[in-house]
Amino acid sequence: MTITIKRKKISFLEKLYVVEIIKGMLITGRHLISNIIRPSRMMTVNYPEETKPIDEGYRSEHRLMQRKDGSIRCTACMLCATACPADCIHIEAAEGPHAKAEKYAKVYTIDHLRCVYCGYCVDACPCDAVRMDTQVPVDAFTKREDFVRDINYLKDNHGDKDPVSVADYP
Ligand code: SF4
Ligand code: SF4
Repeated sequence: MTITIKRKKISFLEKLYVVEIIKGMLITGRHLISNIIRPSRMMTVNYPEETKPIDEGYRSEHRLMQRKDGSIRCTACMLCATACPADCIHIEAAEGPHAKAEKYAKVYTIDHLRCVYCGYCVDACPCDAVRMDTQVPVDAFTKREDFVRDINYLKDNHGDKDPVSVADYP
């Protein structure tokens, strides 16, 4: 079946485009003057000089939480790596120095190029050892290997937040 779409008839003035161009310029001018008079109401920001605050609940770069003694809370249980749908967490366990935690993560890396920021790792962790509340969006790099964040980066990636979790041991 053929469907015929009725097109709106264009008037002579519209065909000239001059009036339409003037109408468009008036709208642009109205926004320009409004932005100059009331810059606080502007919908845009001068990125990257200006940035909008990131919401508290935004899933951002990971950080590894610490105990009060400064050691990393991770007990290398592998639950986060198992829950990760992107298979981007790599952990190597070693025998731990703490009596209550028989293992610790000797190696802990997250490939942020593969990460889908789902937060399953945070949900899966029984020790509150990994969080995604840094409010740091992933950086842009030119080399793939730069996206892989190791344990040294993750354990210090706290910004102005408290690195210590007061959850129960471990
Ligand atoms: S946020 Fe999701 S994809 Fe990223 S490391 Fe955690 S579980 Fe894996
Ligand atoms: S971060 Fe949490 S879930 Fe992942 S290995 Fe460490 S203790 Fe287990």
